[in-house]
Amino acid sequence: MLLFTPGPTPVPQNVRNAMAAETMHHRTPEFEAIFEKTRKHLFKLFNTDEVVMIASSGTGAMEAAVINLCHNTLLNVNSGKFGERFGKIAKAHGLGSVEIKNEWDTPVSVEAVVEAVKANSDIDAIAVQISESAGGLRHPVEEIAKAVKAINPDIMIIADGITAVGVEPIDVTNIDALIAGSQKALMLPPGLAIIGLSNAAIAKIGEGKGYYLNLASEVKKQRQNTTAYTAATTLVIGLLEILETIEANGGLDTLYVKTATRAKAVRSALEALGLHSYPKSPAKSMTTIDDENASEIRKILKEEYGVNVAGGQDHLKGKIFRINQMGLIQEYEMAWVVNAVELALAKLGRRPYDGTANRVFNEVTFEMSR
Ligand SMILES: *Cc1c(COP(=O)(O)O)cnc(C)c1O
Repeated sequence: MLLFTPGPTPVPQNVRNAMAAETMHHRTPEFEAIFEKTRKHLFKLFNTDEVVMIASSGTGAMEAAVINLCHNTLLNVNSGKFGERFGKIAKAHGLGSVEIKNEWDTPVSVEAVVEAVKANSDIDAIAVQISESAGGLRHPVEEIAKAVKAINPDIMIIADGITAVGVEPIDVTNIDALIAGSQKALMLPPGLAIIGLSNAAIAKIGEGKGYYLNLASEVKKQRQNTTAYTAATTLVIGLLEILETIEANGGLDTLYVKTATRAKAVRSALEALGLHSYPKSPAKSMTTIDDENASEIRKILKEEYGVNVAGGQDHLKGKIFRINQMGLIQEYEMAWVVNAVELALAKLGRRPYDGTANRVFNEVTFEMSR
């Protein structure tokens, strides 16, 4: 089965092998050396002043960022399930909560955020997805961060990059917390989250908030190449392996170019079949198609062609399907996926099979790779 969901993504064989060794004790020079090397790679990936790894799924890092960086009121951008989650986290911790809500195909506008910030001086942090995975859309996070900092540089910008870090270069100039999760673009099993922090964020964190998710404790320990609590040793070993693999495959710049090419090629191929791309500003992490036969297409892909793609959640259940583009993906596998979608449409009697998806996928890929 080809796993083409936008998280979890397949774990490369060499990474699985690296994680198959005997459990290493976390308080040892051997593990600390691995931790140090991993941190060096992470600084290149995040470009932030500091990075911390947390043993949790991505949501744990979202919660850590909110409780440590928001002390009054959080403004969250809700264009999907993950944006909505930031508001729920704020409320769960008794923080003030202001939300900008849009349909799941609609990115937030910079103006709407600016207006909300000007209208409420209690807002001391903003949380937004770079790539909102619910509908596969890209928010203009860098522009939002710049505009907000121009109004009040003390407002913390929390950017959920769980389906963006490792997908595309992110300008972190005005971002205070950048979040990544192991099971999306980093091609690892779930269970490890990473937060990049600005110096301004570290200043605001001070003594930190919370206990397990207290970022002050983690920053202090991780600067010494260890963790406050037991590290997710196996996942850190896997993380080092995948970051070294990315480097061996041409580095981050190559990965970003290949991902952008793949994103364009997949969307072009599916649009050439008459399918409709759902988000108004598609993220590079996935292609999201809204279609009345979305469920049937997913079922045929899985049962006939061995391809697992994601559906939609909540009101988009049965209305969309989402195809992953993150990670080190072989182009022949991606070509198989778009071809399988074309075959599924033929099975449904929607259009006769003529190889359009593969032709367009290859044309765009070769054109952009020249
Ligand atoms: C997957 C995802 C999350 C949640 O991560 P978990 O690991 O499931 O807790 C948060 N934000 C985005 C954008 C995601 O894609």
